[in-house]
Amino acid sequence: MPEATGIVGEFLSLREEADADLLAMQCGDFYEFFAEDAELVAEELDLKVSQKSSHGSSYPMAGVPVDDLTPYLKALVERGYRVAVADQYDTDDGGHAREVVRVVTPGTLLETSDADAQYLAAVVAGEGYGLAFADVTTGRFLVADAEDRGEALTELYRFSPVETLPGPEVRTDDDLLSELDGTLTLHETEAFAPKRAAHAVGEQFGRETVDRLDVSREAIAAAGAVLAYVEETGAGVLASMTRIGAHHGDDHVTLDATTQRNLELTETMHGESEGSLFSTIDHTETSAGGRLLKEWLCRPRRSPALLEERLACVEGLSTAAMAREELRDRLGEAYDLERLASRATHGSADARDLVAVQETLAVLPAVADVVSSTPDLADSPLTDRLEEPDREAAGALCRELEEAIAEDPPSTVTQGELLRRGYDPDLDEVIERHEAVQAWFDGLADREKRRHGLSHVTVDRNTTDGYYVQVGKSAADGVPEEYDEIKTLKNSKRFTTDELEEKERELLGLEEQRGELEYDLFAELRDRVGERAELLQDVGRTLAEVDVLAGLATHAAENRWIRPDLHAGEGLSIQAGRHPVVEGTTEFVPNDVALDDDRRFLIVTGPNMSGKSTYMRQVACIVLLAQIGSFVPAREAEIGLVDGIFTRVGALDELAGGRSTFMVEMSELSNILHSATEDSLVILDEVGRGTATYDGISIAWAATEYLHNEVGAKTLFATHYHELTGLADHLPRVGNVHVAAEEREGEVTFLRTIREGPTDRSYGIHVADLAGVPGPVVSRSREVLDRLRDEKAIEARGGGDDEPVQTVFDVGSGSFRGPANADGGERPAESRSSPESSDGGESTEGLDPDAKRVLEDLEGIDVAETAPIELLSKVSEWQRTLEDR
Ligand code: ADP
Ligand code: MG
Repeated sequence: MPEATGIVGEFLSLREEADADLLAMQCGDFYEFFAEDAELVAEELDLKVSQKSSHGSSYPMAGVPVDDLTPYLKALVERGYRVAVADQYDTDDGGHAREVVRVVTPGTLLETSDADAQYLAAVVAGEGYGLAFADVTTGRFLVADAEDRGEALTELYRFSPVETLPGPEVRTDDDLLSELDGTLTLHETEAFAPKRAAHAVGEQFGRETVDRLDVSREAIAAAGAVLAYVEETGAGVLASMTRIGAHHGDDHVTLDATTQRNLELTETMHGESEGSLFSTIDHTETSAGGRLLKEWLCRPRRSPALLEERLACVEGLSTAAMAREELRDRLGEAYDLERLASRATHGSADARDLVAVQETLAVLPAVADVVSSTPDLADSPLTDRLEEPDREAAGALCRELEEAIAEDPPSTVTQGELLRRGYDPDLDEVIERHEAVQAWFDGLADREKRRHGLSHVTVDRNTTDGYYVQVGKSAADGVPEEYDEIKTLKNSKRFTTDELEEKERELLGLEEQRGELEYDLFAELRDRVGERAELLQDVGRTLAEVDVLAGLATHAAENRWIRPDLHAGEGLSIQAGRHPVVEGTTEFVPNDVALDDDRRFLIVTGPNMSGKSTYMRQVACIVLLAQIGSFVPAREAEIGLVDGIFTRVGALDELAGGRSTFMVEMSELSNILHSATEDSLVILDEVGRGTATYDGISIAWAATEYLHNEVGAKTLFATHYHELTGLADHLPRVGNVHVAAEEREGEVTFLRTIREGPTDRSYGIHVADLAGVPGPVVSRSREVLDRLRDEKAIEARGGGDDEPVQTVFDVGSGSFRGPANADGGERPAESRSSPESSDGGESTEGLDPDAKRVLEDLEGIDVAETAPIELLSKVSEWQRTLEDR
């Protein structure tokens, strides 16, 4: 193809310069995409492609009207494209030229309609990891340190950035990068250089900032890179980023990515938001409130003072039902102030946006009035919280806007009617003249009728004819001489006059003058609002907080949740606790939990589907809710504050999530064993399932000892390895509980009640029985199981005595003993060294090889791990084998 020239050539050369996937280039009233871009955009967005010829070649072309670009941009960026936008401007010689003014990327998209936070992140590796997070739509900017990759991922998961800039060292770290969901952008390496980054941070947030923040070089490098990137993409919002905060992991409860997923905080295991903890407790009225509640849920806190303050607010609000409803009504009138502030700074706010700012600022005193006139609330920390923003400045800005912006202004900012009379004397004069001419036109038809005795006279304007006097055909002969005919229609004629033309020029001139003057005044006003971004963010944040607290109170009041007692101690005592989400969908059976210094590790047993997982998650959710400052679903709750919540959810539930491999299971376990402390809460829902039974038990066993002896975390461990229940006899702080089930006439009824002690039976064999496995096989497997339990031994370590204790199960051998092995068992026979295997082969001895194979098969099956259909086919296969003997 010959080199393109003309407009396509210009497009292609801009396209090459721009660091983007696509270019939208303004050509008059359209933004055009050419060549490959046109085809791609057409396919993604269902646009029509036409052909543009340029010097003998033809190029695909697709365009959107200038005013419609935003939704197309949004759609493209949300699909992960970086889109450069080139605007057209007039050159001195009267021609046009174009220039890329912005590159819109997922993390710098201002026009989002999604209420969620939209973080742009940078992550830098050095001695540890440094991270920065910025939301250009709200001006939030945070930096954080992380000790290792795991912690860095935890922070990244917490903020869930839509776009991430990996630092130079991170770019080759596939383990980290593969865990990230959003777009990855390789930004220029120099932006991460420590000196340059520190300089950028100092310039943006003030010179002392770098010292004040007290974070690592890496975190500052990340912050600098984010700033450089936002600047470079031309989002024009740097001015709304007025403050930078350090996010200290220490203030927060550690919640790793897995735990956030397992507890279904913001979405369920199936990826739906319905059914998550967030969607259950979210009663916020504003999108800023919803965003803040999500933030609280993903970042529970450790400071008792802060939590008690929130709890006191929730308590006041939950009692004062009338005031609460009134507050929520008021909050319903608030708009997203943080986002409006960004748009004002960026210069994209229109007059309606400023009205929204004004109306939202007016909500603050209204909310404060409700609070101060309600005794339950007036004494609560809510009062102080409402004093935090500069109320006087907010009031002044609110009045200024109220006096400036016209009622119900248009959404265009260039055609006047934005501002009120009395706002500016010069403008008033133009408006007065403008309206006088308008009035002249308004009265023209009547005047002409009277003056010339005409009937059927109208005055109107359109784009081709301008203003005209239209006279019905019957009367058209009687028009005076000065009327110039400009058009004949079927039933009428159109005329103009010299006077009309002169007035029209005057009117157009005034319209233009008014439009320009209003726009200038409006832009000044908008800039002044943009300069108050920090104030708007304060007010927005305060309203969002009241919204969240009122929402929590609403949920508490409607669901009989109670205020938890927080303390710094070790204990955790919940009476009649419920699962916050499940209680909404079923007749829920409440359960207790009691952990203290002497009993910190509970082994939870019970049949499949009896409620083990629900019970443990309920405990974790209650602790988490308490540590965001919420009431909790229980009759009574005393909660020793934790520094982290760690969960590992077993094979079955994970299978539903489609990510169960043994490697994943082990890396999660490894993370818990490394990261949990004695102040943490650990939930283990099956460990070791993903491998052979002996392997699995060994790992579960050793992990229990380690958590009990070395880590000392509060732990709930649900397991189907009945063998583990024996540990309670030997490890002092381990206790057993089980979920009760009742069996009548071969039917198991789940009682959903937690009782002391281990469950009394192995339900795997029970299920085999229910499934119709032949009687001899079932009873034989009971025997095998009993023998496995009784005869083989493993010592429990850490029982207090120095001597290991002999008990229950020998994983060292992992085999049948004696003759069974001797005559062709596949397993190693080293266990024959064990002296007490006297009756080892007795019962299998009488069986033929086929039956033995069936038994081995049966023993090797993990009922919970095998699909029912597969179980069925196995059973019928066994039956066939046995019948064929
Ligand atoms: P397990 O982990 O023992 O297999 P789950 O915790 O997955 O069992 O619970 C199985 C089912 O029982 C779930 O559908 C859950 O909703 C229900 N369930 C669990 N606990 C309770 C309870 N306390 N009250 C009512 N239903 C419950
Ligand atoms: Mg379970």
